[in-house]
Amino acid sequence: MDSEINERELLDEEQYSAETHLIYGKNISTKWDYSHHVVSPLSSSVIFRLDSVERGAEGFMEFANTDILQSETNPIYIYDRLGEPNKDLLEENLSYIEKGEMAVTFTTGMGAISAVLGVLLKAGDEIVAHRTLYGCTLSLFKNWYPRLNINYVSCDLTKHSLLNEKITSKTRVIYFETPGNPNLDLIDIGEIRKFVDLENSEREPTDKIYIVVDNTFATPFCQRPIELGADFVVHSLTKGIGGFGTDMGGAVIGPKKFRDILLLYRKDFGAVLGTKAAWTILTYGLPTLHLRISRQTANAMKIAEFLAIHPKVEFVNYPGLKSYKYFELAQKQMRDFNGNFAPGSLLFFGVKGETLEEQKEKARALMNYAAKNAYTLTLAVSLGTQEH
Ligand SMILES: *Cc1c(COP(=O)(O)O)cnc(C)c1O
Repeated sequence: MDSEINERELLDEEQYSAETHLIYGKNISTKWDYSHHVVSPLSSSVIFRLDSVERGAEGFMEFANTDILQSETNPIYIYDRLGEPNKDLLEENLSYIEKGEMAVTFTTGMGAISAVLGVLLKAGDEIVAHRTLYGCTLSLFKNWYPRLNINYVSCDLTKHSLLNEKITSKTRVIYFETPGNPNLDLIDIGEIRKFVDLENSEREPTDKIYIVVDNTFATPFCQRPIELGADFVVHSLTKGIGGFGTDMGGAVIGPKKFRDILLLYRKDFGAVLGTKAAWTILTYGLPTLHLRISRQTANAMKIAEFLAIHPKVEFVNYPGLKSYKYFELAQKQMRDFNGNFAPGSLLFFGVKGETLEEQKEKARALMNYAAKNAYTLTLAVSLGTQEH
């Protein structure tokens, strides 16, 4: 390292805005030893030269051993499934932007969700989750957890006082999305925190309840759940953070003491984020997050206002509308990096009809019409990309 770089090392990164940080990342990172590249290199080597048996042994010792890994020295990379520079760089930036102590990435959002719950839950435990959830998360809880003897309890967490009836001595995790997929239910993270703190104050350390929030719909641009009281945040990086619809990814952000067990879980269950996906999200997704989501939010607001007064529309759920059921909570919880109200880019609406059947029929006709005729509306799954 030359003296020029040493001077840059002394830069105080905290004096720069979150937006700037997402573009420049860590000004010097030990995760990347090509100091003259402006864009981090796309590393696509699965294996790494170990130089000597001793260095190999040291690398295996350091893996998933945060305590002995010095942040000032370059990690000894061994094999992609254990770790490599692109994922490590992305993880540094994700933990920064979500205000968590550490991040671990996974191959998809579902990989991240099953990993954080895999390390927090064991046979005999219970998970209390909001009654509406992303379909595959619900399927994980309903179809797979019974096989592991993990009990899934559904609760309307928009009414947090209902938790009293749902919590048992076996509860280990409270899980929700806010805003929720697909109907944009909003859950008060601070109130859930208060409840859990009270409950945990009477529990042994091994029996504590953790709060896991899926922040995919809001993205960290609109909301940072850890600051509001969550223990863990999970993301589908495939959506708003990735932003271009070219790669899948997932992440868990949370307390440092869980980093090692998450890395061990990732190593053994194998849902490792590919290097190319990590590089794409790091290079294109994160640096443009604030621009994309702030513009999408402004667009969503206009569409919500248009729909809200449309004679054929029954209801619009959008956190930016005064008529939204949780408008006050949205204003409290959903804030961008500078503290401005950031109601997000997603909305949910229903069309009018005499009966539920008629409403469904009209909605189907509207979607098919748009799918066939619209230039800028795309009928597709997923969300948060530039086209839809
Ligand atoms: C898409 C999505 C997921 C799953 O993410 P994948 O990357 O598709 O595995 C989880 N939660 C929410 C809210 C989602 O929208």
